[in-house]
Amino acid sequence: MREVLFTRNNVAAQRHFVEGDKASYEKVRLSAAWQRTTELALESARTYGLDFSGGAVALDGLTIVGRGYANDNRFRHGLMHAEVMANSDTIFNQDHPDTLVVNLEPCPNCQSYLATVPGLKKVAFGLSRHDLADKGLLRAHDEDIFTCAADLPYAVEQIDDDELRADNLLIYDHVQRDAATGQVQVDYLGIVGALGL
Ligand SMILES: [Zn+2]
Repeated sequence: MREVLFTRNNVAAQRHFVEGDKASYEKVRLSAAWQRTTELALESARTYGLDFSGGAVALDGLTIVGRGYANDNRFRHGLMHAEVMANSDTIFNQDHPDTLVVNLEPCPNCQSYLATVPGLKKVAFGLSRHDLADKGLLRAHDEDIFTCAADLPYAVEQIDDDELRADNLLIYDHVQRDAATGQVQVDYLGIVGALGL
């Protein structure tokens, strides 16, 4: 199912839009997409709560042509990250994304996977893996996606949006992950309270 990116509910788009300023358009597009990925992460927390709060959308211009959230624990398959789910959605719909946006820096597996997507020009993300390592949710890596960016066939961009960054950090304050087993527990009601939803 295709979906327009700019909806009445997408306040991130409204926050950054500057009439006539073409330089703002890409920032608006990516922030609006980050908001949508945040909604998907919340949907995962609400409906399941045992997967990491990762959400992703695949875009063709200003149209969302694929969406997904992490399902590796639900499906018991370690590679079912949000990026893979969102791109699988585009394949199912026979669409072709130019950009993939995810609320969290892609892991090395997803970086490689996304390199196989025909026509994908850009991968943009919200929080960095360092942000989550600081919370003890991921192992700290010396290398980030920008270290590998020269070898990737798509451009990489971290989205600059203070409000969405604060919201996503609050969400991950309510995620627990057992480093040994990979078990995840998301406190959805805690998130609802923290974000005032
Ligand atoms: Zn991944």
